[in-house]
Amino acid sequence: MAGEPQDDCLFCKIVGGQIPATIVRETETTVAFRDINPQAPTHVLVIPKAHYANAADLAVEEPGTAADILREARAVADDDHLESYRIVFNTGAGAGQTVFHAHAHVLGGRGMQWPPG
Ligand code: 5GP
Ligand code: ZN
Repeated sequence: MAGEPQDDCLFCKIVGGQIPATIVRETETTVAFRDINPQAPTHVLVIPKAHYANAADLAVEEPGTAADILREARAVADDDHLESYRIVFNTGAGAGQTVFHAHAHVLGGRGMQWPPG
């Protein structure tokens, strides 16, 4: 069934507590934890507890949870006192996605360039 935990998914294991993470926020539908390889002073991943391969699939299947991800991204930024921050949804291997469980990167605490690399 759509959204069910996947045995081979790293982020499902973080949601299930089988793999530890530095969790900074949790709601009924989402978990936010610090990225293991931070690219900025604040680098937090906000993920749905349900498994979907990417953010767009999540939005189609559970639009309310997709909105929760954005609300939690702002809460992460507020918690870290960020005036400016970037929310990134890498989608597809060619765009840098390496974990195929939807996640928002929340990045901040340093200057940002545009366009991204
Ligand atoms: P993607 O490349 O799919 O957009 O983002 C996946 C992110 O997950 C990467 O930034 C990577 O550093 C992070 N990551 C990979 N494995 C782990 C882990 O075991 N724990 C945590 N906290 N982050 C991880
Ligand atoms: Zn998963």
